[in-house]
Amino acid sequence: QAALYIVPTPIGNLGDMTLRAIEVLKQVSVIAAEDTRNSRRLMQHFDIDTPLVAVHDHNEQQRCQWLGEQLTQGKSVALISDAGTPLINDPGYHLVAYCQQQGFDVVPLPGACAAIAALSASGLPTDRFSYEGFLPAKTKARCDRLNDLADASHTMVFYESPHRILDSLTDIETCMGAQRRIVMAREITKTFESILSMSVHELRQRLIDEPRHQKGEMVLVVAGKPKQKEALPKPALQTLALLRKELP
Ligand code: SAM
Repeated sequence: QAALYIVPTPIGNLGDMTLRAIEVLKQVSVIAAEDTRNSRRLMQHFDIDTPLVAVHDHNEQQRCQWLGEQLTQGKSVALISDAGTPLINDPGYHLVAYCQQQGFDVVPLPGACAAIAALSASGLPTDRFSYEGFLPAKTKARCDRLNDLADASHTMVFYESPHRILDSLTDIETCMGAQRRIVMAREITKTFESILSMSVHELRQRLIDEPRHQKGEMVLVVAGKPKQKEALPKPALQTLALLRKELP
């Protein structure tokens, strides 16, 4: 039966293309790609000659019907984006929702995703985390979002761009405190990959001192708010201290 396959592509290192991704991209009838010119290079590298059609933010809704017709005719479709997992800050949401509504099978392939790669190497708790995408571009909206998140106790993952990184770090420091722990994973899987882990105040200073760390693609992983230790009234603390002395 025909299906829509969601196919991740590498985020920098072509070695991260999975065997199954290559197989599926060769077998389907058409590949819906965010930027066909960009994807053509990837296809050439892996010897894939399946036709590409452009599906981006501006035409996705119109394309749904045409792609639905392909599926009805028994032709499978693969969705790829410029890098990483489609729909994770990339187009595809409307297409997947449309296919679900029409009763077509939607088959996800696991693969490269910058957010998950950064989280896995962050050294921060991973039992609970939220994916926050990009912070808003304007300071006011960015601070509103950060203030909403400031008391959350779980780890938070943000995508960030080089020209906004310093402003975002300034606002994270203001809204979440200078000592909040943060990990910046930059150029993951590429030649100049780096993972910096320190307080937000230190990270901002480090980026000013070493501007090369402001460049390239980056993910910020921010620790949740540390739990406050229960403050007991002084007499209770004194009684506890006495009890501790008496206990074996
Ligand atoms: N769909 C992609 C994924 O699965 O990660 C994300 C696409 S989003 C438009 C692009 C953003 O992802 C970049 O601005 C950066 O924040 C992050 N990103 C992508 N590749 C990266 C890499 N190699 N290293 C660090 N961050 C990366």
